Amino acid sequence: MTVELICVGTELLLGNIVNTNAAYMSEKCALLGLSMYYQSVVGDNAGRLKGLLETAKGRSDIIILCGGLGPTQDDLTKETAAAVMGLPLVEDKKAREDLKRHLRKLQRPITENNWKQALVPERSIVLYNANGTAPGMIIEGEKNTMILLPGPPNELIPMFENQVYPYLHERQPEIICSKMIKLCGIGESMAETEILDLIEGQSNPTIATYAKTGEVHLRLTARAATREAALALLKPMEEELYRRFGNKVYTDREEVTLEEAVAALLKEHHMTVTTAESCTGGLLAGRLVNVPGISEQFKEGYITYSNEAKEKLLGVSHETLAAYGAVSRETALEMARGCKEAAGADIGIGITGIAGPDGGTPEKPVGLVYIGCCCRDRSYVKKCGFTGNRSKVRESSVANALTLLREAILNEVES
Ligand code: ATP
Repeated sequence: MTVELICVGTELLLGNIVNTNAAYMSEKCALLGLSMYYQSVVGDNAGRLKGLLETAKGRSDIIILCGGLGPTQDDLTKETAAAVMGLPLVEDKKAREDLKRHLRKLQRPITENNWKQALVPERSIVLYNANGTAPGMIIEGEKNTMILLPGPPNELIPMFENQVYPYLHERQPEIICSKMIKLCGIGESMAETEILDLIEGQSNPTIATYAKTGEVHLRLTARAATREAALALLKPMEEELYRRFGNKVYTDREEVTLEEAVAALLKEHHMTVTTAESCTGGLLAGRLVNVPGISEQFKEGYITYSNEAKEKLLGVSHETLAAYGAVSRETALEMARGCKEAAGADIGIGITGIAGPDGGTPEKPVGLVYIGCCCRDRSYVKKCGFTGNRSKVRESSVANALTLLREAILNEVES
């Protein structure tokens, strides 16, 4: 079954409001296993909306409209949809009562145009609105169904959740179930190359790759009659991905972040970590502190932006800074070792680099970042060349530092 989304409102076209309703409903429709091929935004204009509805009727089974159900002249979704479906508007008693009660509760006087909101297309299913004055409605035609919903998200979301979702679910008995496999320490093209055969041969489940800063996410999606059946379809594909990517998979749970996965590893192996940051200026510490309960594993961190601070707080040697510069393999390692010793932690991570936009040279361009890691007796340094603006370089540095930290812990516990 195909579904199409039409959001009505000139404010949307002008960019005055962000179309969060579209994002919300698209996600829900995908979970229901409905195929959405078209989405449009149209202003408060009856002629253009009518044209769009005629087109949508010719290509989609279900057309969901949102916005333009209010009492004013420019709210014309219902009138236009009813006209396109060839139905007159009739008053719905309960909608009228609800309207009266709602406006009384708000202590707002009832104006003549308010009653317009109690009108619904004949024979439609009325979706009563517990959070506003405009009811939604489902108009079932011979070939198509139109679902009209109010624009304000605090009205639309509960109405969708409680009334539209169950209605659509009944009409589309198959559900969609998806699983996210999250990878770090591998780029998107490399990840895609590793699974090209799976992508090319996909049907049910399907597999899609998403590039994130310093991470790659793989979404597996299966369609089946029940959640259990869908999960069973996902299982072999999931196992295959674990086989191919091994330790690069840091979680198979959508809600788990990289810092949470790293924090869980630290906790599991009773290890502590500290940070010494130059170009990231505390971003890495911030990501770690995102994780509730990290205080046992992360007790202190250092922001050492200047050479003096690197010497004073971390004991980076003056000679190293003079000979190799602040952005160097040697300095990154001394920062990692220095903070580890100063904090008495099991692991120290040092980040030094050129975030830009200024400060780059041909030998040390903007985006050059060294990440040092000392984990008990072992040391690692990663040289990175990032692209993008200052904040992108800093975020990429942090994601790579978390990845290096994770690799160091795994090396330590596996040896
Ligand atoms: P009302 O009953 O308030 O008149 P309505 O159905 O007529 O509702 P609109 O007048 O189109 O809806 O929009 C009312 C408000 O709802 C907008 O000002 C905006 O804040 C929010 N809104 C409308 N459409 C969207 C959307 N697609 N995404 C997010 N918010 C929206």
